[in-house]
Amino acid sequence: MPERPSPARFRHKLSGFIRLILVLEGVAISSAAPALQRKPGLNVLLVTIDTLRADRIGFYDPKHPLTPAIDRFAADSAVFLRAFSHTPTTLPSHANILLGTTPSFHGVHDNVNFIVPAGLPTLAEQLKAAGYATGAFVGGFPLDSRFGLGRGFDVYDDNFYPKDKDPGIESGRERRAQAVLDSALDWLKGRGSPWFLWVHFYDPHDPYSPPEPYRTRYERNRYDGEVAYTDSVVGSLFRYLEDHRLVAGTLVVLTGDHGESLGEHGERTHGFLAYNSVLRIPLIIRSPGEKPRLVSQNVSHVDIFPTICDILGLRPPAVLQGMSLASLLRGSRGENRPITFESLSPALNLGWAPITGFILGAEKFIESPIPEFYDLDEDFDERKNRAMGKDLNAYRKQLVQIFARQSSEGNDKARQTLDQATRERLISLGYLAGRPAAGKATFGVDDDVKTLLPLQNRSMDALDLFNTGKAGEGTEALKEIITAGKRVSAAYLNLAAIYKRQGRWPDAISVLKMGLEKLPDVYDLYVQYISCLYEAGRSDEVVKTFTETTVPQTATDPVIWNYVGLAYWNTGNAAKARQCYERSMAIDKKFAVPHNNLGNVLTFQYKAANDAAIYREAVESYERATALDPSYAAAYHGLGVVHFQAKAYEQAVASLRTAVDLEIGLDETFYFLGVAYMMRGEKGPAYDALMKYKNSPSYARLSEAEKARLDGYIAKCKI
Ligand SMILES: [Zn+2]
Repeated sequence: MPERPSPARFRHKLSGFIRLILVLEGVAISSAAPALQRKPGLNVLLVTIDTLRADRIGFYDPKHPLTPAIDRFAADSAVFLRAFSHTPTTLPSHANILLGTTPSFHGVHDNVNFIVPAGLPTLAEQLKAAGYATGAFVGGFPLDSRFGLGRGFDVYDDNFYPKDKDPGIESGRERRAQAVLDSALDWLKGRGSPWFLWVHFYDPHDPYSPPEPYRTRYERNRYDGEVAYTDSVVGSLFRYLEDHRLVAGTLVVLTGDHGESLGEHGERTHGFLAYNSVLRIPLIIRSPGEKPRLVSQNVSHVDIFPTICDILGLRPPAVLQGMSLASLLRGSRGENRPITFESLSPALNLGWAPITGFILGAEKFIESPIPEFYDLDEDFDERKNRAMGKDLNAYRKQLVQIFARQSSEGNDKARQTLDQATRERLISLGYLAGRPAAGKATFGVDDDVKTLLPLQNRSMDALDLFNTGKAGEGTEALKEIITAGKRVSAAYLNLAAIYKRQGRWPDAISVLKMGLEKLPDVYDLYVQYISCLYEAGRSDEVVKTFTETTVPQTATDPVIWNYVGLAYWNTGNAAKARQCYERSMAIDKKFAVPHNNLGNVLTFQYKAANDAAIYREAVESYERATALDPSYAAAYHGLGVVHFQAKAYEQAVASLRTAVDLEIGLDETFYFLGVAYMMRGEKGPAYDALMKYKNSPSYARLSEAEKARLDGYIAKCKI
């Protein structure tokens, strides 16, 4: 088997073995590569593993023997040693793969506030049009169908609520690789060819929480544990293909969406910087009938779509920006072209400088206020910036030209304002999900991500210090960062969060005010300032600040209008409160909270006026809230109370019981529930509910007369 690449060759430093392969490929060029035989009707299996560094695959780097299943598959495939993603974030990278174009064209630059626009051709649509059954099974919320990648798939399975609860996984946000695979195999079972199956495994994404036995085995390196676990599931998938004799009829493409820095260059995960620790990805293609091969040429995510079309003999859409790698699978060398990349999350969310750049041959140019230049043959890990003293003007010009060439008209269609529930789920996964910062026109060294990321990290560490009982150290660290006067909104936000938890409201408010004066474009500071004033009981100041300042982002923010509505309500202005809630509802049609708050206003008005029309309106408000969010206990409580006041005790009991079942934590729910039962003559449950209220902390706050009345009710219900 002379062609079979032996993993033993990889026992060299990367730059070393890349040079060795170049020599081998030189031999291949001298003898013309045989022409590609197109194979219409092959099944297509696309496996994307989130956050997977190429060097964690043993075949790429035997120092990390974590992936026996992928290694076996790689030994039988074309392995691309220098494959790159164009973005270090999940949704844009998958858009690049499935649309075959870069963010400059499709317009998706971040996980948050972008949706893949309709109208652009997708790989799934292309294959469906060619008669394929198409199925997608994804493991993480950033690829939920609401973000627009589902077009062309007969089935797009994004069910992040598996039946079996798993303590290591946050339900609703992700699911284990095994759960993804189980669903995918259910779909595949007995299916006739041709089919296109895309499976996405999210597990190596932080937080790192592999299941046993990987958790124990990789206790000191949980990221590796996630990779090893995911590999075991990939192994089951490959075994299924073997057991069902599908290997010879299936084109398999395995890649990662981006890497993970794991502390390199001062970056812990991904999404800030654009070094090879996050841009380099594994790419392994097994096309039936092709010999195994190592390919050292630079390739990228946008090449996958045209490659699949080429192998299947399908005409690719004209807009694709990559090149087919099919001839590389046969030993040819393709043309050398620039591979563009960007990292815009910090610019979009924090107002830091954008990062863009390109890789051409061994050269990598990173444009930012502190520009960087690397020779990837000598320095693949980008340890020595060679930009100093180098004339970069030609590179800058080239960068502008390439991005202009890749851009499309209407690429701003992808920019969307997400609903609040979606935003909160993304924040819970650790993504920067601030409201877009108003962009600056020019950026200096102080705005460079490299300058600011260490301070951002220290701001996060300070919060951890506080959470582990070292409040003083945490507070001091944050004050130091603030005193340095850098553009790090996290320092202000985290210090305010600590003060709030300590009940130091005036300090929390003043630190947010200071942050807002320093960084007026960072909208998160404004939102936190307003909410902090409200929580501190300073509703009049909320109204004053809001009416006296013009902040453009409020036009699309449902949360701020809800807060201002609450503040108006507290200052006795029901009409204004109602207007604000209605504005909030109009901005975000899925946001349940303002419907509940409007219900509260109406309940109060109904109590005063006893007008049946207001009662109906209140009920409708609460019902809209619970329809939008079926787990919204406070809205069930409100609904129960307004029914109670209308003496509709049956409905009151039903709503209040739902509130109790959802663990509302409001003592008053038991009071209203108990009295409603009593009015219906159900003494037993009435007694239980009233006793719960009597034993709650709220009881102590009652007046003597109220206590006497409660005791009277209890005595009446005692059987
Ligand atoms: Zn990802």
